[in-house]
Amino acid sequence: MTDGQSFYFVLSLFYLIECIKFAPLGSEALVSRTGKFGTCSLRQPFTTAWGLKKSVFLAPLLPWPASMYFLTGDNDVTCRSSRILLVSSIRHHQAFLQKATQPLRALAILNLLNFFVFLPIVYVRTYDERTILWTLAYCYATLLAAALHYRRLHKRLLPREGADRLKTTLYTSLLPWHAPRAVDEILLKSSLRWSPIATLAANVQNKAILRRLQYHWRAVHYHPAPRFNKSAIADALAQADISPADWLEPPTQLDSPQYCPCCHSGYETQATHCSDCDGVALRKELPSP
Ligand SMILES: [Zn+2]
Repeated sequence: MTDGQSFYFVLSLFYLIECIKFAPLGSEALVSRTGKFGTCSLRQPFTTAWGLKKSVFLAPLLPWPASMYFLTGDNDVTCRSSRILLVSSIRHHQAFLQKATQPLRALAILNLLNFFVFLPIVYVRTYDERTILWTLAYCYATLLAAALHYRRLHKRLLPREGADRLKTTLYTSLLPWHAPRAVDEILLKSSLRWSPIATLAANVQNKAILRRLQYHWRAVHYHPAPRFNKSAIADALAQADISPADWLEPPTQLDSPQYCPCCHSGYETQATHCSDCDGVALRKELPSP
């Protein structure tokens, strides 16, 4: 492996490490492959950093067009910070963030292309020290432009997060593998303010999210300690024009003698409680043919 290849191997490795994101324990992530809100898919953490008490996620590998948001693990009652509770407010906030971060995404792609495509081409084609130095100067100038824009945007969107802003501004201006991911900091931090149940309701066009909402609705009826309260879910569903009228009905297809009324998993006759939904008693009645 040549020096150049080793350098780019390390650069790629550092970039991949930047795609690893930490969220408060119990969080999930929402990923939109096209940046469009409403059809986001759920993404589970790939591991848990118990020492840091964080859930660990892998973000989409390119800063554009995909977007990732965090779905906080706590409910709206136990949340300490100001929270955006209405489905329509979350949609507006996401649209605002999407628009506000567009120039930063463009700079992110430019930085990625500069260091991973443009600079290697100049190096291989010219082998001219002066040309390479000028190209490097241009690449670092775009890093600095991205850092200054990030700082201005972050100050406007997250005015109380001064320490994070200083750290990320410095990293963005100096580290080619960090700059393309600067937009993640803004989206992930901002989305922690969204009510998780209202965020799910705003993305109900995704089937997995619809099933998750149905689970939470059944949980408030059958689980001894549901995560959300009934009125919060009913409000979010009403705001998103979703009717839960038939969500409490038993599963239509079941090949087991018992089922869990919350997650609809099938169980044999020996079991009494669902192993996934702690404390939920199984039901025997089957749907009528
Ligand atoms: Zn269950």
